[in-house]
Amino acid sequence: MTDQYQTFAKSPIGKFVIKNLGLPSPIELNRFQAGQPVIQGAVLFGAAPNSHLTASISQVLSNIHADVYAGNHAGDNNELQQAAASVGLNLRALNQGDKESRFKALVFDASGIENAEQLKALYDFFHPVARQIQTSGRVIVIGISPETAKSVAAATAQRALEGFVKSVGKEFKKGIAAELVYVDQDAQDNIESTLRFLLSPRSAYVSGQVIRVSKAKTVEVDWAQPLAGKTAVVTGASRGIGEAIAHVLARDGAHVICLDVPQQQADLERVANEIGGSVLTLDITANDAGEKIKAAAATQGGLDIIVHNAGVTRDKTLANMKPELWDLVININLAANERVNDYLLNNAGLNENGRIICVSSISGIAGNLGQTNYAVSKAGVIGLVKFTAPTLKNGITINAVAPGFIETQMTAAIPFAIREAGRRMNSMSQGGLPVDVAETIAYFASTASTGLNGNVVRVCGQSLLGA
Ligand code: NAD
Repeated sequence: MTDQYQTFAKSPIGKFVIKNLGLPSPIELNRFQAGQPVIQGAVLFGAAPNSHLTASISQVLSNIHADVYAGNHAGDNNELQQAAASVGLNLRALNQGDKESRFKALVFDASGIENAEQLKALYDFFHPVARQIQTSGRVIVIGISPETAKSVAAATAQRALEGFVKSVGKEFKKGIAAELVYVDQDAQDNIESTLRFLLSPRSAYVSGQVIRVSKAKTVEVDWAQPLAGKTAVVTGASRGIGEAIAHVLARDGAHVICLDVPQQQADLERVANEIGGSVLTLDITANDAGEKIKAAAATQGGLDIIVHNAGVTRDKTLANMKPELWDLVININLAANERVNDYLLNNAGLNENGRIICVSSISGIAGNLGQTNYAVSKAGVIGLVKFTAPTLKNGITINAVAPGFIETQMTAAIPFAIREAGRRMNSMSQGGLPVDVAETIAYFASTASTGLNGNVVRVCGQSLLGA
């Protein structure tokens, strides 16, 4: 669906009107094209004193061949220089004349911050360059998971980072996204897939998020084809977000089994043909859905990834809602996911290092008028992820995305005024595209994302709803 306001905003007259009336001005977000480097543009890198993640971050920046500068006060910060040098990262010094230079990303290791006073390191690093970030740029702060901090003051200071990142996401505009990554104890070797995702245009519509990286086995991966040799099932793959997920997982190397209801057979076959995948027509609420999914994947070496994308809305205020509308939505959006997961996990239906990825919604976080059934189902999905994560074995992980306003047939059906509000009430002043959700799912699905378990990442342009 086209966003006519955004098209208007790009025209000369539109720019004039929008500037003079102070209206939101959505920019065209950079999005990933196959073959592109992770990041195009310079990175400014800094660290609070005594931060211990600097070498691991430097390693990732070196692996992606980033053009990296040392941030304010960091040029003579020996710790940063030494950590970078230890992994062969060439850290360029910022000269006086570089004041006007523009950075694609600002990356700050805040793991050394241990009390409120030391939070000033954020100000010292970001303040001088707050106007020097390019459009569709990134602000990434990396801290330690507050629960793992050694004192109340340190835990408090680490938790405080969230306020900084979420404010910057709202303040910087121009399609700039801000994220916080919490790294668990000894999980520094598990941060690469997260940093690559956040630095790249794959995360165009993800902002204001807190991602937690846990310690897990590290796995070698071909970053150009991180899903090579993997088999994925995507439910609801015949259109909308599911279709985009199928395309992105196939682009990343997976064989994708496209699943949808029999009524969608023609579209399902079209999608499967486009990506060299296969077709499974199935209603996921069927009692034997788990069994059928396992059997379909068995012919492809077993199942590595299941994406529970199929979902429906049946909006009515609670007073007007018929019981069958309640039952239908809960059954498809939540109960079917639970049943399929139970079957797969109890019947060796997922390969080692397998991935379960669920699709929640910001309605499940914020609630929504006319969506008691839908919000219950999508909040339930978050519960499913949270409570399943610690029970998993064999390197299997479970995570969820929670899309905000995404341009699909589902959102095209929303009345105009509500649709327009949904599109604009976020830091990007626009709706996201199905590919934005798909890229986030591919990040969770990546063979390298072993340290991501129990996360819920919103793909909502930092929507004000439920923020
Ligand atoms: P969509 O209606 O375009 O596609 C959903 C697909 O799921 C359809 O192809 C449909 O046939 C399939 N499906 C429905 N019931 C099924 C069943 N019982 N068995 C198998 N397949 C079934 O929706 P979309 O906008 O692409 O949404 C995809 C997912 O993203 C849903 O879970 C939705 O709740 C979620 N979501 C969407 C948005 C948005 O803005 N579009 C926002 C938040 C969350």
